[in-house]
Amino acid sequence: MILVTGGAGFIGSHFVQQWLAGTDEPILNLDLLTYAANPARLKAFESDARHLFVQGDIADGQLVGKLLERHRPRAVVHFAAETHVDRSIDDAGRFVATNIVGTFRLLEAVRAHWSGLPDGEQAAFRFVQVSTDEVYGEQDEGAAAVKEDQVLAPGNPYSASKAAADHLVLAWLRTHDLPVLITRSSNNYGPCQFPEKFIPRLVACARAGLPLPVYGDGRQRRDWLHVGDHCRAIACVLAGGRVGSVYNIAAGNEQVNLAVCHAVCRLLDELAPRSDGRSHAVQIAHVGDRPGHDRRYAIDACRIRQELGWRAAVPFESGLRAAVAWYLAHPEWTGALQEPAA
Ligand code: NAD
Repeated sequence: MILVTGGAGFIGSHFVQQWLAGTDEPILNLDLLTYAANPARLKAFESDARHLFVQGDIADGQLVGKLLERHRPRAVVHFAAETHVDRSIDDAGRFVATNIVGTFRLLEAVRAHWSGLPDGEQAAFRFVQVSTDEVYGEQDEGAAAVKEDQVLAPGNPYSASKAAADHLVLAWLRTHDLPVLITRSSNNYGPCQFPEKFIPRLVACARAGLPLPVYGDGRQRRDWLHVGDHCRAIACVLAGGRVGSVYNIAAGNEQVNLAVCHAVCRLLDELAPRSDGRSHAVQIAHVGDRPGHDRRYAIDACRIRQELGWRAAVPFESGLRAAVAWYLAHPEWTGALQEPAA
């Protein structure tokens, strides 16, 4: 069995779903069920005996220790985190507590368990830290995409907390020989994303007849990756990645936010036209920029392509169309946006 943390979140739940569809190996899912989790994401595998869900905190060393002892997973894939940059600006404490202290406690519990395993199991064990391209910080327009050996230069409390966690993970390899790997992915999109994030938020606002908020001039560049491609990449790294390595994961699909917003508007115009026949683009509203907003992230994903043969398979156009259609078909999901943030 493998243990995932944060498997009730956006990416973690897609990972669990893919895992159960593609292997017979059971999966233990530890998630605190914070505001960002949605038990509806777990409905699909509720009756699957290979999925074992435990509500709990990665920072609870006793709980994690007991779970490791009882279930003896061969690997840990660590998704659990606070993830929304805007929230990290308002309340960085939660990001430090979960992303840094939580990862530290998790590493310690895993190390205690791992160091008592027989040699063969110790050698085969893996700890995969799921990280982000944001840890490299902002890249200049036109500069080459960064490779995994780039010095980390995070620019906001979220990315700083993830960078700190990445440093801890690598230190646990160097100091304690814990067999760790790190993945750093670009911006994900797809169904079931929490409606505070860019694409579901646009659909939610469009449905509600509200302005479609775009930060600043909307020229911030992100490299959009379908969540299913990201999950396949993580499974590749778990299966064949070199211990101690970092793997960038990206589709090479850089777009400015405003272009993504217009693409969503065109899909909405086709799939759910406004009653007055005008384009949803008339609802676009530029709002004050986020403090310290990074202009561009750009990562080079050659290593995972060359070493592990992974390639992004979902073209942005069809992936975005399917995602927008999914949010339109699930108004109860984006409706959560109308409620005050927890
Ligand atoms: P998410 O916010 O949708 O889900 C996070 C999950 O972690 C939630 O289910 C939450 O309940 C759980 N969680 C939070 N604190 C916890 C704790 N203390 N103990 C146990 N569970 C806890 O996040 P996501 O978008 O699915 O991101 C997952 C991981 O991927 C994160 O580590 C994030 O940094 C990374 N990542 C995300 C993206 C992206 O575009 N979303 C891109 C690159 C990397």
